[in-house]
Amino acid sequence: MRLLKSIAELREARAAAPGSVGLVPTMGCLHEGHLSLVRLARAKSDTVVVSIFVNPTQFGPGEDFERYPRTMEADLAALEQEGVDLVFAPPVHEIYPDDFDSVVEVGSLTRRLEGEARPGHFRGVTTVVAKLINLVQPDRMYMGEKDGQQLRVLRKMVKDLNFAVEVVGAPTIREADGLALSSRNRYLTPEERRAATVIPRALAAARERFGAGERDARSLCEVVRAQLSAEPLAQIGYISLADSETLEDLERVDGRAMLSVAVQIGSTRLIDNIVLEPGA
Ligand code: AMP
Repeated sequence: MRLLKSIAELREARAAAPGSVGLVPTMGCLHEGHLSLVRLARAKSDTVVVSIFVNPTQFGPGEDFERYPRTMEADLAALEQEGVDLVFAPPVHEIYPDDFDSVVEVGSLTRRLEGEARPGHFRGVTTVVAKLINLVQPDRMYMGEKDGQQLRVLRKMVKDLNFAVEVVGAPTIREADGLALSSRNRYLTPEERRAATVIPRALAAARERFGAGERDARSLCEVVRAQLSAEPLAQIGYISLADSETLEDLERVDGRAMLSVAVQIGSTRLIDNIVLEPGA
């Protein structure tokens, strides 16, 4: 496994990489969710590239860019174990030199949910991922359903701008109690960690109601709201039941839909989602 810190080194290694290339973009602090993507990439690609870059442009003012956990040594050990070929971990100025002055922006998909709560967030994500695709030129790029809106936004960018990469979405990996793995779970105190289990419980309750035949979006969101409201440490950001493609709010679930939530637990903001599909 080679660790590359500059664009020049990456370009050289890419040019020499044999066969098909799979890319897994990450911000590091790797957990089993990230590693599940690496394993998918490993199974399908001749060369696996993992990027580790805490991207400053996708954090808003007052968000957790500075305190975002950085665990490079452990990350590299885990990636070596998974048989990764190349790790691209550039310093910030390599990606954003002083005169950097361009953005990539996706339209309406980025204006709701996370985009509404975190203005500019997706512009940062699409800009850095566009750069990573140009640099790595992967055949496939692996992303988690955990960040459901991000996955859809990046699929849209790839389609609209004709990037020659297949975006592969992968299921959310969860702890035994249902909490979705996230680098930000590290911020939680033991009491908050216990409280956070309300998130998967709320989503599961809605899934159960959906399974029993409920199709009214407001009623399904109400099930989630009732559960989340019962946890004093949880503060609801949003509860959304939206068309899985357009992310437009639904009144009824007649096709594939994404039920997503943002919940603040103490000072930590967590997101999660499930897909509901009639007849699935
Ligand atoms: P991040 O390091 O948070 O930017 O995440 C890098 C990639 O890992 C993204 O495509 C995420 O959607 C994905 N990811 C994060 N958490 C999970 C999880 N619990 N299960 C599956 N994929 C995940």
